[in-house]
Amino acid sequence: MTATIDPTMTSISTPDPSPAAVLGRLRATFDSGRTRPIEWRKEQLRGLDRLLVESEAELLEALRLDLGKPSLEGFITDIAFVRAEIADTLRHLDRWLAPTRAKVPVKQQPGTARIHRDPLGAVLIIGPWNYPIQLVLAPLVGAIAGGNTAVVKPSEVAEHSSRALARLVPRYLDPDAFAIVEGGVEETTALLHERWDHIFYTGNGTVGRVVMAAAARHLTPVTLELGGKSPVIVDRSANLDVAARRIAWGKFLNAGQTCIAPDYVLVDRTVEAPLLARMADAVRSFYGPDPAASPDYGRIVNQRHFDRLSALADGDGAGEAVFGGTRDASMRYYAPTALRGTDPSAPIMQEEIFGPILPTIAVDDLDASIDYVNAHDKPLALYVFAEDAAASTRVVEATSSGGVCVNATLFHITVPGLPFGGVGESGMGAYHGRASFETFTHRKSVLTRPTKLDPSVAYPPYTGIKGKLLRKLL
Ligand code: NAD
Repeated sequence: MTATIDPTMTSISTPDPSPAAVLGRLRATFDSGRTRPIEWRKEQLRGLDRLLVESEAELLEALRLDLGKPSLEGFITDIAFVRAEIADTLRHLDRWLAPTRAKVPVKQQPGTARIHRDPLGAVLIIGPWNYPIQLVLAPLVGAIAGGNTAVVKPSEVAEHSSRALARLVPRYLDPDAFAIVEGGVEETTALLHERWDHIFYTGNGTVGRVVMAAAARHLTPVTLELGGKSPVIVDRSANLDVAARRIAWGKFLNAGQTCIAPDYVLVDRTVEAPLLARMADAVRSFYGPDPAASPDYGRIVNQRHFDRLSALADGDGAGEAVFGGTRDASMRYYAPTALRGTDPSAPIMQEEIFGPILPTIAVDDLDASIDYVNAHDKPLALYVFAEDAAASTRVVEATSSGGVCVNATLFHITVPGLPFGGVGESGMGAYHGRASFETFTHRKSVLTRPTKLDPSVAYPPYTGIKGKLLRKLL
């Protein structure tokens, strides 16, 4: 925050950094109308884009320090991803913002009806640590496009990324409209105490409940981007070479610390062995014989998560390692690992793994996979591999999840036209592309009637002929 010299005093004063003061500043900006013109919004979006281009090296270094993130991976998932969101928004914002017409039925004529997209006001964006730049800046794109002011609270767990954003954002965006507030539970709790016009939270469901309870005090709407166990279903008709590669890629990217990473595999038992063998080949071809030495393989974010993963893999019923299984706490390295013979009642099958361990459960047929998925919380993502289109269609139609990929993992998140979000335990609301704009705006209905005609039949007293006429008309 920049220091200002108050001419009436001899000392240097800094703006009050309390949540109430930050929010007050943002509200004053919003109330002034500054955020409404489309040109201002586009200018902020271009500023955010410049930040990503000019500070790429600094951001990638922060990601490396936080997550051991390979530079190209960070570029793809955190830099290019947000830039694509910005480009898509800049391309379509005029159209999204234009009021749309609604039909006025003959009985309600004359009049015109339009739906305006109103900014919400001051919004709060709370992010997690696993894609610490993408997961706060992508929602921010929607908040800007919607004409809002915003406070962004990055995760303290990815401290280098948080610090980089706090340093860079005020240089590129209007500091009276956007603020980065750093901190952990205490600071977030203080922010949640305030009255926001929308809260956009990404993280685990336990904290999601805290956020929603805090929002309820002010009747503030929330978007909750949560997680859960995203299953992969491998049908006997699957192209096993491709399935193995795509599952391994989706699982071991960011060392498995991806909200939509394949969490476990339900595989038709007739193809279990060849699938696992091909997956071992894929992992070897991606990361070499020793993934610890690969520049393309990430690390576990901290010791707490490393210990959590170790306990899950060592827990009863986790199954035997088909490949991987090794780990080194000193480097927070956990090898890409697949398990077979996992017991559905094992601890590893009770919570989101969020790391590079992939349990597999062999099933007799597609129905068994569908039944398993439907007996558990609705996942954020579901993946089905099948060459038999009837099989994949059945899975899509018989299950509920935030999103689905057929013969792919993770890729649905890259299509701006696809709303991204969960359902049930995996969250509520959605964003990306137009869905972000919709999340951060209110659909305001505006009816305009001419005043030339104003027949008295519409007004009380509804006696005699008037009453009869109205009954006929309505
Ligand atoms: P985290 O620990 O960084 O927490 C998320 C945010 O909540 C942080 O900003 C943190 O400061 C704040 N927070 C933590 N405890 C709090 C409390 N008691 N009160 C108020 N705020 C609090 O991240 P995490 O929750 O470990 O993230 C991982 C989870 O997020 C996984 O479940 C993953 O699936 C999910 N996730 C979902 C998405 C998605 O897009 N749906 C994306 C990434 C991660």
